[in-house]
Amino acid sequence: MTHRAEAMIDLAAFRHNLDYLSGPACGGPEVARMVVVKADAYGHGAVPIAHAAREAGIPWLGVAYPSEALRLRESGDAGRVLAWLHAPGDPDLRGCIAADVDLGVGSVGGLREVIEAAREVQGRARVHLKIDTGLGRGGCMPSEWTELLTAALAGTDRVHIAGIWSHLASADLPDAPETAEQIATFEMALDTAADLGISPEVRHLASSGAALTRPDTRYDLVRLGIAAYGLSPGPAIDAGALRPIMTLRAAVAAVKRVPAGHGASYNLTWRAPGETTLALVPIGYGDGLPRTVRGGAVHIAGVRVPIVGRVAMDQVIVDVGDTAVSPGDEVIVWGPGRAGEPTAQDWARWDDTIGYEIVTRVGPRVPRTYIEE
Ligand SMILES: *Cc1c(COP(=O)(O)O)cnc(C)c1O
Repeated sequence: MTHRAEAMIDLAAFRHNLDYLSGPACGGPEVARMVVVKADAYGHGAVPIAHAAREAGIPWLGVAYPSEALRLRESGDAGRVLAWLHAPGDPDLRGCIAADVDLGVGSVGGLREVIEAAREVQGRARVHLKIDTGLGRGGCMPSEWTELLTAALAGTDRVHIAGIWSHLASADLPDAPETAEQIATFEMALDTAADLGISPEVRHLASSGAALTRPDTRYDLVRLGIAAYGLSPGPAIDAGALRPIMTLRAAVAAVKRVPAGHGASYNLTWRAPGETTLALVPIGYGDGLPRTVRGGAVHIAGVRVPIVGRVAMDQVIVDVGDTAVSPGDEVIVWGPGRAGEPTAQDWARWDDTIGYEIVTRVGPRVPRTYIEE
């Protein structure tokens, strides 16, 4: 048992999820899978997760920033990696082209910069041209699509059109009407490309939620983030076949008996209703726990006990009542939920957020350890 907080990442559960997602749940063998490892693999550790995904036969990895792609290359990863978000002047753009990283491009200006960078490194960039089908994030407006395609064709000595793609606004809501509209716009974009003689290797639109629930969004490739980590994209999507792969745990640092009326944590927002035992757990918002959580709980010795008072930077206080708890006892902050411990999804509910944010915000002070359960 560790004396401090750690995030245990179960690679066997990760492989189980990849296995499930590689099956009919996300389409047949004609659909390729990308595992999204941006933001340090949603807090799970990008390099070990990428390595495990490759070992499981995943052909594509996805990240947001060029720096994240280069970190994978530095770790020895040589497979297809798509980096979809860069701002003008990103110093890692050249490195990405030289290292054969695929780049998302959603504007003529962005394309020019990629062509220029490719020229400088005497390379040819693989680009995935992005159309904004409604989300309002990256990607060119449909009215600019032909111009972007034409510019890419004109730069063909420096760019290869590897993909055409977009991103959905409501992949977590299987029946959202905007998804049908986005598909229609995407189809138009594909038709325009085909009319210009462009046939990309991969057309892709779906993230986890859509990949699991909407066959009409799968095209050639699905981009799987949260589902690979075993969490549901949203309450409307059944993730029962997936296994959450992160267990966040700590050890009780101290235990004390307090009389009725004794307060707990800053501003004494909680006071003991009767004599009780408080346990101090060394993990706080400096490690990524949300300070705004209401009604949070952890698991100690198989019992769910409430967090009382404010979450501090380094510690929380739990009211263990009359349960026998000793310093050093294991505290499960969240886990897969099989033994009744809270899950990241529970934490998301308590903090009015999504499981994505709960696991991704686990900070660098928390070591990640990799296990095979
Ligand atoms: C983060 C992200 C994904 C993965 O989304 P999940 O819901 O975690 O599967 C896919 N595509 C893009 C463009 C993203 O930004």
